[in-house]
Amino acid sequence: MKQVFKIYIDQIHDGKTLSFDKYLSKEDFEIEDEENLIFEKPFHLKLKAYLADDLIIINYDVNFYVKIHCSICNELTEIEHDLKNQYFTKEVSSISLCFNPLEEIKSSCLIEIPPYVECKNNCPSREDIKKYFKKEDNKHFPFSKIEE
Ligand SMILES: [Zn+2]
Repeated sequence: MKQVFKIYIDQIHDGKTLSFDKYLSKEDFEIEDEENLIFEKPFHLKLKAYLADDLIIINYDVNFYVKIHCSICNELTEIEHDLKNQYFTKEVSSISLCFNPLEEIKSSCLIEIPPYVECKNNCPSREDIKKYFKKEDNKHFPFSKIEE
């Protein structure tokens, strides 16, 4: 992972809190777009890091958008994710001078993305599909009466 953002032990010594509030690109997170996973907007990361005994506490909010194909109509739909008050810790002894917290943050973001989405949380094409199912229930085959 690129070293775009490092937390130095020095910055959080003696009860100091490191605060960070920035927009990061997907390149900063080393995320690549996939066919069904497109990140067009930057990630908004608000982070605080501080020491508690032998642990570095990293507390963050992250807001991001991802475009996914609707599982009903296949149109791209954008969903917003807003992760609030997330935590992870690092042992001070495992760090020599500094570390990059973005790998952990990236994982927490990717886990949030659902495998299936529907546009506008209720795809307009759903109605068409319902009609189709209804016909089936009534034992009418939708293609049995194709008119020329
Ligand atoms: Zn849709």
